[in-house]
Amino acid sequence: MAPVSSASESVFTAAVLSPHVTVPLVAAVEAARSAGRGEGASAAMTHSWLFTGPPGSGRSVAAKAFATALVCEDPDVPGCRRCDGCRSAAVGSHPDITWVHTDGVVIQVSEAREVIKTAAAMPTVAPWRIVVFEDADRFNDSSANALLKSIEEPPERTVFILCAPSTDPEDIAVTLRSRCRHLYVPTPSRDEVEAVLLADERLGLSPEQAAWAAEVAGGHIGRARHLASEEKARAKRASALKLPALVYEPGEAYRFVTDLVTSAKDEATSSVAEREEKELADLQSSLGMGAKGRGVAKAQAGSAGQIKELEKEQKNRRTRMLRDSLDLALIDIAGMYRDAMMVAAGAVDGEEPVGGFLHPDQAKVSRELARRNAPESLVQCIDAVSACRETLTYNVKPEVALTSMVGRLRECCRQV
Ligand SMILES: [Zn+2]
Repeated sequence: MAPVSSASESVFTAAVLSPHVTVPLVAAVEAARSAGRGEGASAAMTHSWLFTGPPGSGRSVAAKAFATALVCEDPDVPGCRRCDGCRSAAVGSHPDITWVHTDGVVIQVSEAREVIKTAAAMPTVAPWRIVVFEDADRFNDSSANALLKSIEEPPERTVFILCAPSTDPEDIAVTLRSRCRHLYVPTPSRDEVEAVLLADERLGLSPEQAAWAAEVAGGHIGRARHLASEEKARAKRASALKLPALVYEPGEAYRFVTDLVTSAKDEATSSVAEREEKELADLQSSLGMGAKGRGVAKAQAGSAGQIKELEKEQKNRRTRMLRDSLDLALIDIAGMYRDAMMVAAGAVDGEEPVGGFLHPDQAKVSRELARRNAPESLVQCIDAVSACRETLTYNVKPEVALTSMVGRLRECCRQV
């Protein structure tokens, strides 16, 4: 067993995970180590795990800590953060850890098969090979089925970690769920988020930066990290938060919708432009396009379909990125109405200090909204934003969904 004193330096403590998460994982790593020494298997370890928790709760942080501890070389502290295994796991270059994340709407069966092939190989340097599916909620039926066999009869030295928002059949195939050990990762508190940010040396944040990002990210670790490190993300948040005040100026509010959608589209397109070009060039060269000679024309006739397929996939990815980007803006906007509602209902002190606000830096505007609206109207505003978020998950044009939301917000705030 790891001595208690040194356990404070492990990846688990650095990741600031709840004991509900760390206790079973540390026990699993210990059991895996005993099994590796030929001391017999223990029920604490298993090959297939399902980590669930709301977005940002840190389920991928937990997966990373677990994977790191499994490849750690320190005999006393699993996940010591000092050995070669821990260090390469920290920067994402460990050869035995495969991290699968998809930008597409679904994990395609071809992608799943590729990973399964990797998963079947023995680890190269560590005692275990670890495969993490960061978005296990994006398996479709065929990719879930492709993975199912490996999860049922896992390769001897392979550990699968599936991450999903919940165990709901909408989020994870029932068949996969039933073969995995489930671990729930609760949403971290503000202080826990701050500690995670400070512990991440790659971010290099000052205590003030970490405190601010933790404050405004609403228990979402990924969001906090993004806001802390990206000027663009901060600018986007600031612009989204203007909407509740703009609702009182109709022309401005509708112009806001156009601007928001345009900038989200630009963001999605520019962030993948280079990658899309490369994907197309790779596909074209694998299809032998540009080549001359016998048989080429025939081969090229079939390749048009594959190129179309790729373009469709790329378009889906852009759509999903646009949707995610708008969703984040809407979460921020809903948060402001929530702050105003809490003030209006007397649940949060409307005066300084700004404790209890989701957007403490916008407290002035929230108080003004609270002054102008009854708590019930503000609840209706929150509902209008939630309805828009839901509409966006269907194939509705973002401009249409957002414009209709602005109309409802104006009604709730008695502007029509
Ligand atoms: Zn280590």
